[in-house]
Amino acid sequence: MGYRGRIAPTPTGYLHLGHARTFWIAQQRCHDAGGILLYRNEDLDTDRCKPEYREAALEDCLWLGLQWEGTPIDQSPRTEHYLEAFKELRDKGFLFPCTCTRKDILEAPSAPHNEDGETIYPGTCRTRQNGLGESKINWRFRVPHGEKVEFTDAHYGPQTFISGEDFGDFPVWQKNGIPSYQLAVVVDDAAMKITEVVRGADLLTSTARQLLLYRALNLTPPSFYHCELMLDEAGKRLAKRNDALSLRSLRNRGKTPEELRSEWA
Ligand code: GLU
Repeated sequence: MGYRGRIAPTPTGYLHLGHARTFWIAQQRCHDAGGILLYRNEDLDTDRCKPEYREAALEDCLWLGLQWEGTPIDQSPRTEHYLEAFKELRDKGFLFPCTCTRKDILEAPSAPHNEDGETIYPGTCRTRQNGLGESKINWRFRVPHGEKVEFTDAHYGPQTFISGEDFGDFPVWQKNGIPSYQLAVVVDDAAMKITEVVRGADLLTSTARQLLLYRALNLTPPSFYHCELMLDEAGKRLAKRNDALSLRSLRNRGKTPEELRSEWA
């Protein structure tokens, strides 16, 4: 099968220079391999995603010179696919229902932290059994403790994460009926037969989580290429709230797509 890639913005704000560069690299890699690029709008977080950001992202991507196959694919109408995967994981015993709030997790005396200072789920609910009949409850994936999760990144080379130390039991399904990013992305990359995922290096640890989901769901994972993150002048990661480096404001200030692209060449 030929190369299949995707660009997958989340419409919670305007795209910035970092997204543009990542998407451009995704397109280049796809182009070099003579493949097909899809556009997936990751709009599951109904509280934060807005239709105007979806439209703005499409417009900004077209302005930049990105081209994809077919019409953009929205995640929101695909809930039945995520639900099916969630049920499979739950029925196979990979998940546990969790009543912990964010505050409970942050304040748990036993909560360890990973190298990034992220709190690892302290395990409060992990021995709860499935099938308790709770419908409005969060569900987490029970990660095997101390297992090496390895992959070779096409940009960063060999990667090793230790499950339970570098990341803990992670959310798969939320009590409001919304799947987690980790679940949706795995279900979709598999369903869309993506052969290589190109995305930002902030998601390297998520790749390790996702590899555990691929295995639990008996799905074949794609390859991965993580791009370096862009930093602002203060050395901080670009975020959607840094409006100065949004593609919109760069365009309004007269930058051309060619100028942007030449800076990444
Ligand atoms: N939608 C995610 C984001 O904007 C990217 C997901 C991915 O590429 O796996 O951060």
